[in-house]
Amino acid sequence: MKSFEHYQKSSFLELSARQKIQTQLLRQHMTYCNKSSPFYRQLFKKHGVVPESVNLDNLQDVPFTDKHCLERSNKSFIAVSQESVADIVLSSGTTGAPTKIVYSQGDLERLAYNERQSLASCGLNAHDRVLLTCTIDRCFIAGLAYYSGARALGAACIRNGLNSLESHAGIIKLMNPTVIVGVPSFLRKLGNFVSHQKISVASVKKLVCIGEPLRNIDMQKLTLLEDIEKIWKAKAYSTYSSSEIVTTFCECERQNGGHLHPELAVAEIVDERGRRASAGAAGELVVTPLGIEGMPLVRFRTGDISFMIDEPCACGRKSPRLGPILGRKKQMLKIKGTTVYPLAVFSALDNISEISDYFITVFSQDALSDRLTVTVSLRYSCSVRRISEVLAASLRVAPEVVIASEEEVRRVVYNPSLRKPVRFFDRRKKV
Ligand SMILES: [Zn+2]
Repeated sequence: MKSFEHYQKSSFLELSARQKIQTQLLRQHMTYCNKSSPFYRQLFKKHGVVPESVNLDNLQDVPFTDKHCLERSNKSFIAVSQESVADIVLSSGTTGAPTKIVYSQGDLERLAYNERQSLASCGLNAHDRVLLTCTIDRCFIAGLAYYSGARALGAACIRNGLNSLESHAGIIKLMNPTVIVGVPSFLRKLGNFVSHQKISVASVKKLVCIGEPLRNIDMQKLTLLEDIEKIWKAKAYSTYSSSEIVTTFCECERQNGGHLHPELAVAEIVDERGRRASAGAAGELVVTPLGIEGMPLVRFRTGDISFMIDEPCACGRKSPRLGPILGRKKQMLKIKGTTVYPLAVFSALDNISEISDYFITVFSQDALSDRLTVTVSLRYSCSVRRISEVLAASLRVAPEVVIASEEEVRRVVYNPSLRKPVRFFDRRKKV
């Protein structure tokens, strides 16, 4: 039995018992990295890291690994020989060049276990029919992860992948899925489409949402979450992962933040200077996935900003929960001393019903502050003052608001040379 299977109830244990398990698995992981990963052998030697002595506290003395390291030294992260590689995926690098991530057979089994635990926590079981609207091929891991996890639970999978609204609507009519996995903004479009087609969605009870946050920093529902739950008359659960960390933070039936699987990862939140953030404070998520064989990582900087909720959940699990992703670190805006992320501005604008579309632009104002301009088009008449007041109340900063015609906003947002709509433009001077 794999070590993680042995600890599958670890989320329900008290802190000291969880820490004991994590410390043991962390030391095994560090020892494995030292033995098998050329990158970490060199890094540990350079920084005097003794794998057998690492604990959850002194782990913070080990340097971070980020996407740049993976890009620069891609091959030296591979810790298995070619005959042990089972799957190779691509992850987008920082400069646009893709980075290879390799998985062993053991990693694929861990992946299935990880998603089985996650999907079971939001109430899926062997009776479910799961429609996957994310790709299972094209060198991505996400679709394969949900497929493996749902199959490990005994559920039936419907792999319709990245397909048109018409195709998914036909599948829903024919196969009556009980669960849909997908990007929430797409699920909103799909829900509206099937509703116009008068196709029944009564079979759909749960939506597993990937890639976009559903709540704000106060854990209140975003309009997107309210919309999809209303359209589908189903409960939506947020789930977060990435090809590098191969560990999922998935909400349980209480829908209150993504549970950490203590047997699969050590998670940290760090501030702008790379120090551990105080309890509950927002910062960058750093993950050390445990038990990985193909490309093990230590203290991987995800670039995503969130926070941890470290109090027992009503579901009985005591493991910390990851809050919604508030934004990407490189998209962080500093406006007169206040930190703002584009996602928060988008959410605030989505809540103003008079606005039909928008984009935001950030400029360098001075060394300490950025300047934010919000350009909106209107569905119904609305004053600049009202929009400014709503934004100021929700963001604690007052961006400059410009009202433009629908055509002008659409021309900027739906640029035919870009693959998807773009609503954030960074015009800051690079330092
Ligand atoms: Zn829970």
